[in-house]
Formats: sequence, C-alpha cells, structure tokens
Amino acid sequence: MSDHIGSFLNLKRRIVEAGHKLDDILVIHAILHSLPRTNIWDVVRRNLLDKGKELTLDILTAELISVHDYSERDRLADENDKKLKSEQMALFTKSASSSTYSGKKPWRGKSNDKPPTRPAGTKCHICGKEGHWAPECRSKSI
Ligand SMILES: [Zn+2]
Repeated sequence: MSDHIGSFLNLKRRIVEAGHKLDDILVIHAILHSLPRTNIWDVVRRNLLDKGKELTLDILTAELISVHDYSERDRLADENDKKLKSEQMALFTKSASSSTYSGKKPWRGKSNDKPPTRPAGTKCHICGKEGHWAPECRSKSI
C-alpha cells in the first residue's frame, strides 16, 4: 500500500517538477479512486472524503497505510484461524476413524447376546420375577 501511494506521490512530484500546478485534492481523489472496490475501502474512502478540506495527503497516506496494515493483519489472522480449524478437523476425523465402531456389541459376552437391561414387564419363566430372564435366574442354581 505504501508503494501504491508512493507511486502517486512520485507522479505528483514529477508533474509539479514539470512546472504544472497540481492540487493535493486531485492526487487525493486519484488515490482514493484507485483503491480496491471492497467494503472496507468504500468505508475508508467515504470517511476520508467526509473530512473535506481537512484531508491532506499526509492524513490520507497515514490512514490508508494503517487501514491496509490492519486489514492485512486481519486477513492473516483469518487464514491462521482457518488453518487451525482444518488441522483440528483433520485430527478429529483421524481419531474418529481410528475408533471406528468395531461391530462388537458392548454387552457381548453376556448370555444370549442381548442387552443387559430387560424390557419392563419381562418376567422370568422360572421364578416369575421381573427384571431378568430364565437363563439368568438365580433361583435356578439353588
Ligand atoms: Zn428368575
């Protein structure tokens, strides 16, 4: 950005050196209209134009460079953020795939490969009590 402004300032100096009169406001407008057509620069452009006659080339230069630095930092921070998020996502998918469901039922090994919690109302055929089925009945072993 400072190079960009510098090229305008050089141009202005050359025009003045050539003996022509060049108002700063013309250079200011030339620089403002050379800015990218993005929201942030639209706002900057409007704010600077609002200053009217208070706006000098020095103020313009300082403002544009600070906004440029700020938006550049913002952009870099944004990129770092995206990079971090994609790394986290990669880690997440990696750990998710390494703990892929093995097909084993967590209650596997217990009788009949059925869930340990019996549906309410299921009665044991041996003792008639609820909460377990005949194969698990304790009274059987007595
Ligand atoms: Zn029973």
